[in-house]
Amino acid sequence: MSSPINPFLREANFINGEWVPANSGETMPVNNPADGAKLGVVPFSGVLETRGAIKAAHSAFGGWQKTTALERAQLLRRLHDAIMDNQEALATLLTLEQGKPLTEARGEIASGAAYILWFAEEARRIYGDVVPSPWADKRILVTKEPVGVVGAITPWNFPSSMLARKLGPALAAGCTAVVKPATQTPFSALAWGVLLEEVGLPSGVVNIVTGDAAAIGDELCTSPLVRKITFTGSTGIGKMLIAKAASTVKRVSMELGGNAPFIVFDDADLDRAVAGAFATKFRNSGQTCICTNRFFVQSGIHDAFVERFATAVKALTLGSGLDPASNQGPLIDSRAVSKTEEFVTDAREKGGIVVTGGQRHSLGGNFYEPTVISGAKPDMMFMRDEIFGPIAPVFRFEEEQEVIELANATDYGLACYVYTTNLGRAVRVMEGLKYGMVGINEGLIAAPEVPFGGVKHSGLGREGGRQGIEDYVETKYVCVGGFCR
Ligand code: ADP
Repeated sequence: MSSPINPFLREANFINGEWVPANSGETMPVNNPADGAKLGVVPFSGVLETRGAIKAAHSAFGGWQKTTALERAQLLRRLHDAIMDNQEALATLLTLEQGKPLTEARGEIASGAAYILWFAEEARRIYGDVVPSPWADKRILVTKEPVGVVGAITPWNFPSSMLARKLGPALAAGCTAVVKPATQTPFSALAWGVLLEEVGLPSGVVNIVTGDAAAIGDELCTSPLVRKITFTGSTGIGKMLIAKAASTVKRVSMELGGNAPFIVFDDADLDRAVAGAFATKFRNSGQTCICTNRFFVQSGIHDAFVERFATAVKALTLGSGLDPASNQGPLIDSRAVSKTEEFVTDAREKGGIVVTGGQRHSLGGNFYEPTVISGAKPDMMFMRDEIFGPIAPVFRFEEEQEVIELANATDYGLACYVYTTNLGRAVRVMEGLKYGMVGINEGLIAAPEVPFGGVKHSGLGREGGRQGIEDYVETKYVCVGGFCR
């Protein structure tokens, strides 16, 4: 079954514990974004296969929800170990289809495993309440139950760890799932099927279907058997899924787009700010939802910051993620490159200055030069739209209140970053920013222990932390009467 390219590569859907093709036999290709080479094919499935997967998940729910928390915790622990035992093969597969440097891919696999371990631990702590009763002859219990079948739709930028953030809490809570991975990166999701088989997850508890995104998404949203949709992806698709899920009043968790501001005050530690800027911008070639979209730098430190930052950016080496000399991979596809070009053209036309980069890389294909643009202005596309590429626009500002207003002047509200050594200012600005997550003098903020998520058009719900399990359980109130007197 396994391919010579990689032991985890599967070219079939994973439904009810079986590896199966699309009913029609149709497939779609998966290409390496670094060189366009075809890595393999996956089934081009639609409504019927999704229905089969939902049915399997629904049947499996009866047994899975009755397992003990300890049994589910032990299985998740085994899953964590299986992921880490196979970190190198999983990371290689991820780099092949996604493009990110192998060191980042290893990090993503380890991060996914860490979420699974966290939720293995959380599985045993899904507590209810015994509430003091207002009635002498009645007792009040509040219990937590799994929501049921979960439909999980995942993106291509973190095709492995985003699934960990969804399957971890779903399995811990006692839910079953149907997964639809991104079209560009289905192999990293199908690899979870191999791992789940290896650790003995009962058939049908997790099902993975690849193919027609709209057909699969519609069936997941409208099926009465699916009780929750969890999605990571663009705000546009997220809004559409929320609207579709309304027809059956499903729970929804949405991790959507961001437009992260990175604010550097004159009193910031410049070394730290430059290191943070670099880390928040160029990880995964700028293709993360918490990547900085807009750098706001105060006048007094502006020129020094731009110079130091551009020097660091110029030192990046582009190439295939499998090449140990490269620390910056390609963009996911040609559409992403065109979108990146559009941002740069728009900025140039409106007076932006390209300090470094600003064009397609000489490697060709999906490679774009890491770019720093100074003189960014509010009328440029960066202000409103998510870049999702390797461009760092730098705005100059003067006053604290002015920058809070600029940072908040967006529909998004996922992550933001503030660099200052003034404690009072750090607190004022943190409280003024309408974002779900704030990094103060820190650019790397995600971890399984924390509630990851956004406000406004950036999403609903939180992944990770003590809060992460809440989206996967229902609260049941039980009133017990008639036994005291
Ligand atoms: P991006 O713009 O970053 O590719 P998308 O929001 O388009 O992000 O994709 C995120 C996920 O949503 C992917 O799995 C993609 O296949 C899926 N998707 C895209 N269109 C639809 C749709 N109409 N219904 C359901 N899922 C969709």
